[in-house]
Amino acid sequence: MPSVYLNGTFLPQEEACVPVTDRGFLFGDGVYEVIPAYGGRLFRWPHHLQRLQNSLDGIRLPNPLGSSEWENMLNELLLRNRDESSATNDQAVYLQVTRGSAARRDHCFPETTVPTIYATSNPIPVPDPAIAEHGVAVVTLEDIRWQRCDIKAITLLANVLLRQQAAEQGAAEAILVRDGKVIEGSSSNIFVIDDDTLLTPPKSAQMLPGITRDLVLELAERHGVRHRETDITPDILAQAGEIWITSSTREIVPVTRLDSRNVGKGRPGPMWKAMSAHYRDYKAAVRAGEAD
Ligand code: PMP
Repeated sequence: MPSVYLNGTFLPQEEACVPVTDRGFLFGDGVYEVIPAYGGRLFRWPHHLQRLQNSLDGIRLPNPLGSSEWENMLNELLLRNRDESSATNDQAVYLQVTRGSAARRDHCFPETTVPTIYATSNPIPVPDPAIAEHGVAVVTLEDIRWQRCDIKAITLLANVLLRQQAAEQGAAEAILVRDGKVIEGSSSNIFVIDDDTLLTPPKSAQMLPGITRDLVLELAERHGVRHRETDITPDILAQAGEIWITSSTREIVPVTRLDSRNVGKGRPGPMWKAMSAHYRDYKAAVRAGEAD
């Protein structure tokens, strides 16, 4: 059982409790982050902290901790949960902040709020080698989420229903389409290769600005991969030579089946292989303390 952090205290997970009046429990009134840590070092920490701030601003909740308080707390958590038997010590941090508890259930914000702060960390599982070999299947589904998907809200019911629908069709992810545009996955961003150019939808209130997405664009720039942020239609998606989905825990995943049809040759493509190598090198630099 990992140690968790709850409202100023580190304790075993099974002892951590929040009151049933917590607004996270009653309303899903809170935000979260997932941050990988490689070799005990938080990955892209300033980017995650900024996105947390944006999410808190989006729900009008003051940040309960300063940046060094967050950093110190998460580093302490990573130390407590370090697995001595692991050669890599790669962990994923989950943190969430809710608007706390109020005596009476009322949609309006309580007058005085003490936010609930919760964080935990768990080993990052070694990726299944079959994914690099064969890729994954995805299905396209209509995006049924709200209009503020840029906020990383804990209210994930639509994402849960969509992912379950995809899983029941044997797919690893649901690719969400709204108003004739491909937006993102239920818990990932999307890239396509169209004519040797890497395309991804531009940031908007309809998608989560993924930290991995930004890093892939940075790596594309650095390594001379032609890339563009542009709207992607379902037709472009269906004709793409390669499709990738990205997230902090899944990294860059090649998609080889879209709605039961092959993507390109039905195998992970050469641009994915090249970008995965750049990503792996970047991670190695973070482990060595040469990048964040
Ligand atoms: N979109 C959604 C809806 C997500 O839930 C996630 C992962 N949390 C992402 C995109 C990818 O974001 P990141 O690269 O920061 O993990």
